[in-house]
Amino acid sequence: VNTTEAVKAVVRAAPDARYVSSLGTSTSALILATGDGPHVYMGGAMGSGLAVAIGVADRRREDRVIGIIGDGDLLMGSSALWTMAGLELPNLTAVIISDRSYSITGGQALVADASSAGVASALGIRAVRVAGESALEACIAEDRCRLVEATVEPGAAWPGPSPFVDPYRVRTRFRAALAGASPMP
Ligand SMILES: [Mg+2]
Repeated sequence: VNTTEAVKAVVRAAPDARYVSSLGTSTSALILATGDGPHVYMGGAMGSGLAVAIGVADRRREDRVIGIIGDGDLLMGSSALWTMAGLELPNLTAVIISDRSYSITGGQALVADASSAGVASALGIRAVRVAGESALEACIAEDRCRLVEATVEPGAAWPGPSPFVDPYRVRTRFRAALAGASPMP
């Protein structure tokens, strides 16, 4: 599967979740998979995706929060895994899009081919590594793991470069969605 197919499988399994995506292909894929739904898209700040997802989940305990996090982004902000382990948020799922490369900056290989699920497990986070759309969809629907490492095809260019993200628009739409207001354009 490529990144877009993986994210679509996640959204099919949890259409009502609040989503946070790290910059780059994660944001491109989430915009595509949700029809530009009112979620938190990171347009920059590489390495902060998981930390932001943790923050949203901590403040919105009544909602299921799913982070769509690139493996390069996770590597840059991996200390957030320690926070995630400590907080033990039952409403948070981190989906790590694992293509073993920094897809947004040209596909450079990650220096270490480490398993994010393995690292998370070592910290006591219930984690699993899955491959394929149906396995991923079932895993998200079951909602038993807090970190799901989804392996995707390395080098798959689509969905392409990081889209322009207007932080003000993202924030305004997300807050309106949390308040139950109808989606804003
Ligand atoms: Mg990557």
